[in-house]
This record gives sequence, structure tokens and C-alpha cells, in this order.
Amino acid sequence: VADSQKLREFGLKVTSPRMYILEILEKAGKQQLHMSAEDVYQRLLQLSEDVGLATVYRVLTQFEAAGLVNKLNFEGGRSVFELNQGLHHDHLVCVKCGKIIEFVDELIEERQKSIAAREKFTMTDHSLNIYGVCHTCLPAPQAESTSPQAV
Ligand SMILES: [Zn+2]
Ligand SMILES: [Zn+2]
Repeated sequence: VADSQKLREFGLKVTSPRMYILEILEKAGKQQLHMSAEDVYQRLLQLSEDVGLATVYRVLTQFEAAGLVNKLNFEGGRSVFELNQGLHHDHLVCVKCGKIIEFVDELIEERQKSIAAREKFTMTDHSLNIYGVCHTCLPAPQAESTSPQAV
């Protein structure tokens, strides 16, 4: 019921594919998961919902146009979607497993504003993606070779 209200709020007609996809994105958002169209499609299959991949793409595009979701485009052509919660945040992106960690840093935010102001530049938006390797993808640390051997 809350979902159908939300769809109407964003000027979208209530259809069952839209309801399912919105619910999936809401659940993912609670765990800070960012889903690709393919991820959403796989989730629908698990739920035995008969929604094709083309429909998933179409609905996500409609959601994005309506401002209900944000599409994040990462290096390498990967795109993920997250519900637009109105709270700005930036992302750390693991290039090995694709894990995405959200963060907000007031100092970074302030610095960006002051750089824009210094250039008399009106900032309308920004995105900061930091690429690297997450701790679970790092190779296991090597045993200390410099430590003295116990005799
Ligand atoms: Zn990783
Ligand atoms: Zn995010």
C-alpha cells in the first residue's frame, strides 16, 4: 500500500512490475545494496515473478526519469540503481567483487563547495566514486618474514 502511494506520488501508474521492482529496491536499500537491472531481474526470478528483463530495464528507466531512483554509472560500464532517499552520499567501489560502500564526509563536501565557489561555479550535483579493492578481496597477508625466528 505504501509502495502504490509512492508510485502515484512520483506520477507513475501502479502496475505489478513497478510494485515488485520498487519493493526489491526498497529491501536492497535497507542493506545498502546497489542493484543492477540484471540483479533485479534475477531477484524477480527467485520470487517466481514473470517479469522480463526488457520490462525491468523499462521500469528502471521510468523510475529514474520520475526521480524515484538514481542510476550510478561506474567505470567499466557497470550501472546500478538505488532509491533516491534524498540523502547525498558518495561511494567506494571494489573493482574485484563489485561491492559498493556508501559514505558521507563533511570535510569532502565542504571542500567541493569552496572549490566551486572559488571558480564562481554553480554546483548542481556531484558524484565521487573511489575505486579499489575491498578488505575481503585483498589477498591474505603474508607471514612476517622479517620477524626473528624463535630458537
Ligand atoms: Zn571486493
Ligand atoms: Zn549509494
